[in-house]
Amino acid sequence: MVELYFRSDLDLEFPVKEVYNLAGKKVAKKTCYKCEGTGYIPHLANVDEGRCWNCNKRGYEIFRVYTKSQIQSVIKSKNKKDLEKRNAWALTSEIIAIQKMKHNHKAYLKNVAYKTQKIKAKYKSEYVGNVGERLEKSLTLDWCIKKEGDYGYYFIKQLHDEDGNIYSHMGSAIADEDYNLIPKGTTFNLKFTVKEHSEYQGTKQTKIKNPKLIKGE
Ligand SMILES: [Zn+2]
Repeated sequence: MVELYFRSDLDLEFPVKEVYNLAGKKVAKKTCYKCEGTGYIPHLANVDEGRCWNCNKRGYEIFRVYTKSQIQSVIKSKNKKDLEKRNAWALTSEIIAIQKMKHNHKAYLKNVAYKTQKIKAKYKSEYVGNVGERLEKSLTLDWCIKKEGDYGYYFIKQLHDEDGNIYSHMGSAIADEDYNLIPKGTTFNLKFTVKEHSEYQGTKQTKIKNPKLIKGE
């Protein structure tokens, strides 16, 4: 007698005991997983008196059964499909990794370009005018820090002109209120006196004093 198994029994652990012939196919009874063979589901007693809808109260279901070699061919094709799936997944993740690398590389190049530009800008700056000279320039505010000193608030600013020359200014809040309220990145016309030429962290800076904002008409 050849042992027969349910298709779900891929480990070939449980050969079925009773085999029936159903329209030329070999079948066997399998205990209903829903009612565990009782035909009733106790906690659903209020619905159709708890009658199991899965096996229609029989307590078992009928499934086709297969020989060991038939099951093994099922296992083989399942393993093959699993392997294909795994390979496809591996390929996908490799593609993602490459795309990520490409992206990171782009980001890296962008960063290098940005830093290069910044360094270039840093060393591009030249001294402007002569000490004591009164100048009028179109300047852009890079940053402004508000500080508190012994005599109240004061501001430290860095500005640049269209040639990339860096200016710095330290002044009190009351000197020119409008000038001290200018937002970062704004370009405006300023009249100022050259106070000093000095280098700060490798950058030539023109220190200014007595700024006067020139308002447009
Ligand atoms: Zn059942």
